[in-house]
Amino acid sequence: MDTATLAQLDENHIIPTYGRFLPCLIEGKGCYVNDSDGRRYLDFGAGIGVNSLGYCDDEWQAAICKQAGRLQHASNLYGSEPGFLLAQALCQRTGAHKVFFANSGTEANEGAIKAARHYGLQKHGTGHDAIISLQNSFHGRSYGALSATGQTALQNNFGPMLPNFRYVPQGDLQALEQEFAKGDVCAFFLEFIQGEGGVLPLTPQYLQGVTSLCEKHDILLVADEIQTGLGRTGTLLASEHFGISPDITTLAKGLGAGLPIGAILFNEKSSIALGKGDHGTTFGMNPVACAGANVVLKRLDEAFLQDVQKKGIWLENALHKLPNVLDVKGKGLMWGFGLTEPHSAAKLRESCQERGLLVLLAKDRVRLLPPLIISDSELAEGVSIIKEAIVSFG
Ligand SMILES: *Cc1c(COP(=O)(O)O)cnc(C)c1O
Repeated sequence: MDTATLAQLDENHIIPTYGRFLPCLIEGKGCYVNDSDGRRYLDFGAGIGVNSLGYCDDEWQAAICKQAGRLQHASNLYGSEPGFLLAQALCQRTGAHKVFFANSGTEANEGAIKAARHYGLQKHGTGHDAIISLQNSFHGRSYGALSATGQTALQNNFGPMLPNFRYVPQGDLQALEQEFAKGDVCAFFLEFIQGEGGVLPLTPQYLQGVTSLCEKHDILLVADEIQTGLGRTGTLLASEHFGISPDITTLAKGLGAGLPIGAILFNEKSSIALGKGDHGTTFGMNPVACAGANVVLKRLDEAFLQDVQKKGIWLENALHKLPNVLDVKGKGLMWGFGLTEPHSAAKLRESCQERGLLVLLAKDRVRLLPPLIISDSELAEGVSIIKEAIVSFG
């Protein structure tokens, strides 16, 4: 279908919540994707960190096709082999005690919010249901997840939010302790690197302080690793960089490598929070999505993760050398940077697309989340396009 027809269909029938960058993407392989005008792009966005194995990875594709021809769905009343194996692999690889499967990041966070409140009730009785999260965080768009999202711009027009959500500034342990001292808190949600917020990492010192405060007050530490997890930062979970074991970790994006799946990982302490009948979802633990995710976990072995770290170091150095680039921050294959005035990230994104490279934005910064399988030469190709685009601004 041609671009004009697609744009017309979109305008006529899709509710306009997204400002779309046409033309539409049609088909891809590896780190490259073609649009409806027949143009080819190197993709440094990977569908917002979703296509961790690139487009249409052979092994992943074979696994999901095989599973789709065997059993495409089984209710959670029965369960499924790919789901149980995925849960086992996640527990073995992360040290988690138990897993709940959802269908998206938002849903994983919703489950984590319910679990946290139930934990507060079980451990401390009523009145321990407050949830603290960071300003400028992003946890999703449904009411629980949006209430935890510390961005009034996203919440305005949709109030009221759920009660008892409060926000603290990044890096401020005193503000956090003040909230904990109120005695009504059950959980603290954080992203190790704020993704949508601009690719902004928390410091190891702050995180050490956070873990000891959570322990001291028996407050669950919930890590939203929906964007940072599954090898994105060069370790299976970003928590490994800091030597932290959160009580609850939420996953989604890269886990399915392109199919919708989310997961909540519980440690032993938090796993008491969800029992029979406490939570559910029809599509959760879908066997096709789980078969794909099993391939992702298998591929993300130590050697693969080391390679992501190596590529990340190269990318960081290359970004630092670019003209007019400010404030390069990130880890592994998750990077963000700003541009010196009067250049804008939005303009750079557009200019990169014109030159055959897809990049993402996060607030007023450029965000790079290339597929984890990207080669050294593809990385270099992308960086040289970014450089060309910046230089073209004059
Ligand atoms: C994308 C994202 C979410 C929301 O996930 P969805 O799958 O879009 O619902 C939540 N938290 C973080 C950190 C994310 O990056």
